[in-house]
Amino acid sequence: MASTQSFEVVIVGGGLGGMTAALALRRRGLGVTVLEQAPQFGEIGAGIQTAPNASRILLGLGLRKQLEAIHTEPQDQVRRRWKDGGIIGLTQLGDACKQRYNAPYWHYHRADLHGVLTDACVDPDGPGPVVELHTGSTVTALDRGNPGRPAAVTEDGRRFEADVLIGADGIRSRVRDLIGLPDTLRFSGEMAFRALIPGDLIAADPATRFLMDRFQSTIWYGPERHLVHYMIRGGEYLNVVGCVPCTDDVAEKWTAQAGADELVNAYPGWDDRVAAMLSKAKDDVMSFALYHRRRDPVWMDGRVALLGDACHAMLPYQAQGASQAMEDAAVLAEELGRTTVDGTELALRRYVDRRAKHAGMVQDASLQNKTFYHYPDGPRQEARDELLKRGFDGESDVSYDWLWSGTPLNDPDLGAYDYRFAR
Ligand code: FAD
Repeated sequence: MASTQSFEVVIVGGGLGGMTAALALRRRGLGVTVLEQAPQFGEIGAGIQTAPNASRILLGLGLRKQLEAIHTEPQDQVRRRWKDGGIIGLTQLGDACKQRYNAPYWHYHRADLHGVLTDACVDPDGPGPVVELHTGSTVTALDRGNPGRPAAVTEDGRRFEADVLIGADGIRSRVRDLIGLPDTLRFSGEMAFRALIPGDLIAADPATRFLMDRFQSTIWYGPERHLVHYMIRGGEYLNVVGCVPCTDDVAEKWTAQAGADELVNAYPGWDDRVAAMLSKAKDDVMSFALYHRRRDPVWMDGRVALLGDACHAMLPYQAQGASQAMEDAAVLAEELGRTTVDGTELALRRYVDRRAKHAGMVQDASLQNKTFYHYPDGPRQEARDELLKRGFDGESDVSYDWLWSGTPLNDPDLGAYDYRFAR
């Protein structure tokens, strides 16, 4: 799978987007260096879901065995009503999903998924050149004196030059600012509580035991707020994400430590099982202000391009932010992998053409769900619940068929990966 002529790529940011891109580019024979500001590579202690559009890409990158070792598979996606937990919508996942989309819907601990990607990047036996990883490397400037060899400059003055530079440095992207793109950041007015609740506590309580009996991806809808939860590591933890109106304190700080009591109190009057579940959280509850980016199709300048949250940060109301970054990575690798060093700028343009509209639609759809999930009880909520009960294909303007099929890919491994038959 080596490219016709190898060249070098520097990626700023070693999150899930940057690491998927590093692996995909490596497999195309490109020399990749990743610069990460954190002292160690890793991810926060929380869960993550990959729908088939992202699972297909990860599997196509040769990670099947590793992902099978760390995933948890939900059997359905369930929507419940806040007051009484009544089921208002159910979408089959599990085998039904694999049959329909040729790829699974899986849950993981973020650190496990990040670890699989990192290991594959540096595996000496993997295809393509081993990825060079640098931690403790905060990029503060770009040197584009030679436009054909952009360089990332770290705060301690080190210079990393390459033929292409990718900013995968997250929602508050420095690279984005350094190439002069507009400020598209928006505050949603909401925040997310995140917690990992020990599965054994969930299993021991008759009120919450049902969460162990069948693994599901669950969303509770209620006025002004919703709650998402699913099991990871085969039931070791229940991953909880509670989205509620943001407090001034969290809005200002972006992130804050919280307690189980705050989490429980954020859902007053909800079904008793919600309090039973949330009260089992330990001291590791965190709250995050939810920012997103306005849709903007400009993702590049010369030989510098953006990927992931840096260009299309979205509300997590479709669980698609990292998954869209993985789609970016696959398309970027296809385009850079089939060009020579002289064609890189055009290849980046093709990458943006293939991805910006698609990711923009997902950004908009995720924002729509903020309204759709949070209707107060009344006619609009009743109409929504009726729609969900009748069966549906997606909540917003984009259908699950469109979303989970993903951006069309040309690479026979990535685009046509078929979980049912591949080994
Ligand atoms: P990041 O993960 O933010 O990574 C950026 C990296 O760049 C970081 O490691 C950072 O340290 C580094 N960095 C930043 N600045 C610099 C610098 N100047 N120099 C060097 N390094 C730098 N998505 C899904 O697909 N599925 C889900 O289930 C899901 N659930 C979510 C739940 C919640 C509550 C939230 C908030 C988001 C969720 N998302 C989900 C979205 C997902 O987490 C993000 O979209 C995804 O992590 C973005 O990946 P990224 O690599 O673009 O950016």
